[in-house]
Amino acid sequence: PGPQMPFDPEKKTLVVLGSGWGSTSLLKTLDTTDYNVVVVSPKNFFLFTPLLPSVAVGTLNNRSIIQSIRYITRHKARNVSVIEAEATDVDPFNKTITFKDTSEIKGAVSSTTIPYDYLVYGVGAETQTFNIPGVKEHACFMKELHDAERFQNEFIDCKCLETAAFPGQDPQEVERLLHMVVVGGGPTGVELSGELHDYLEDDLKSWYPELAGKIRITLVEALPSVLPMFSKQLIDYTESTFKESKIDILTKTMVKEVKERSVVLQMPDKSIKEMPCGLLVWAAGNRGRKITQDLMAKLPDAQTNKRGIMVDDFLRMKGAEDSIFAIGDCTATSYAPTAQVASQQGAYLARQLHHMAKRDQLVEKLGKLESLAATVPDEEEKKKALREVEVSKKQLAKIKLRPFEYSHQGSLAYIGSDKAIADLPFMNGNLATGGVATYLFWRSAYLSTLFSLRNRTLVATDWLKVKLFGRDVARD
Ligand code: FAD
Ligand code: NAD
Repeated sequence: PGPQMPFDPEKKTLVVLGSGWGSTSLLKTLDTTDYNVVVVSPKNFFLFTPLLPSVAVGTLNNRSIIQSIRYITRHKARNVSVIEAEATDVDPFNKTITFKDTSEIKGAVSSTTIPYDYLVYGVGAETQTFNIPGVKEHACFMKELHDAERFQNEFIDCKCLETAAFPGQDPQEVERLLHMVVVGGGPTGVELSGELHDYLEDDLKSWYPELAGKIRITLVEALPSVLPMFSKQLIDYTESTFKESKIDILTKTMVKEVKERSVVLQMPDKSIKEMPCGLLVWAAGNRGRKITQDLMAKLPDAQTNKRGIMVDDFLRMKGAEDSIFAIGDCTATSYAPTAQVASQQGAYLARQLHHMAKRDQLVEKLGKLESLAATVPDEEEKKKALREVEVSKKQLAKIKLRPFEYSHQGSLAYIGSDKAIADLPFMNGNLATGGVATYLFWRSAYLSTLFSLRNRTLVATDWLKVKLFGRDVARD
């Protein structure tokens, strides 16, 4: 361990990978006096993903939904080492992780390997492309902060609006440039389409009056309906709201290729159609990161699910149960890959780790007492040691590790036009609600779950600024 590592030889080393929903929730609850804690993440901040589509259209400032991970760690009881680096390899046999500095400015050392006793693996997932040609090259994703920033720039500036407004632009080219295609009718695609529509209605109509009527939004979904995880009436409500908002939904339609200026679709009747577009957003779900696939390949007998890491009921990685825990989107469980699941898993694991630290201490103490009892010549001393062995055994038996249990708090999504939908658990059943009141609930729910008072203040101020002055369309 280097000089900044919180190293105490009496304590086990806990390495936490990632600073997303799962890892952050773990760090909030973790008792850092139990372990030497090291956090490794290529981003030194936590990103509040539910509001990412709002950043993409400029409703919120990009800084408003992020918070430095050190904001949590600096308030912990013992020093936590935070390293901005990308883990490149996990060795589950020698219990080491290797990570590298991915920033542009590098010091003399830019890659290193450290040992761990326990590893919390929370690296999330990346955008699924299904290796469809052209997606990586021409589509804009909606997963990370830089995706939302890229969207802002491409939509307003280089690709779409300003180019379409250029004098003498061919009408067909204007039509193409102003056609926005969103692929994926999951919550990300639906929320982004809704936010885009708001932007168009609230701001672009007055900023670009000559173009506003020509902007089109098309949402493409391979399945028979959008939002399959919501109840039927909310799916219908979303589809009718989109119809009113003039967002075209193409269901049972699969993207086969993305080109620089168009998208190739397989229509419900299996015919192939090429649709011109100015900007395409790809929100077609998740897949495991390369480091996750590499780690799983090292434990081929236990890790057989292509969707992600298989864990047992205690979130222990199968094949590495004694030392690796996996949480959030990198796992393949019966739960949906959501922030709600990841954060509950993180908090649960923090509590488990506390019990485990107590258990590990007792096991060590027990080993020492047993060898003392076996070797000490004095009978009185022996009896005393044996009595203490019994006490420790009883204490150890009391430490019961409970399996993880998920408690679903409901699903919420914003669908544009100041309307949201919510499926909420209610008296052993489900309450499905949609509309403006649900939107106010959506806003208050997210405002209260934001990371810090700073985030809450910034987001509330951004909402107020947009209400007063509209969104900012100026770009560098
Ligand atoms: P993440 O939050 O993605 O965190 C992964 C962390 O690992 C990141 O800090 C990343 O930088 C780090 N990392 C990556 N690679 C490495 C590496 N090699 N080494 C070390 N660290 C690494 N869910 C909901 O429940 N409600 C919502 O409203 C909602 N809205 C969403 C909106 C959008 C636009 C998106 C994209 C997702 C949304 N989700 C929502 C899903 C939710 O964001 C994810 O389920 C959640 O982020 C999963 O948490 P995680 O900790 O597993 O991964
Ligand atoms: P998703 O997996 O939920 O949806 C992706 C959609 O893309 C699927 O419906 C799929 O059929 C479609 N698709 C895939 N390939 C396609 C193709 N070639 N052509 C056309 N359509 C294609 O992905 P997501 O929306 O990014 O959500 C990821 C996770 O994050 C989910 O668990 C979701 O619940 C969660 N999330 C939740 C919220 C919320 O609660 N408000 C918001 C965003 C994300």
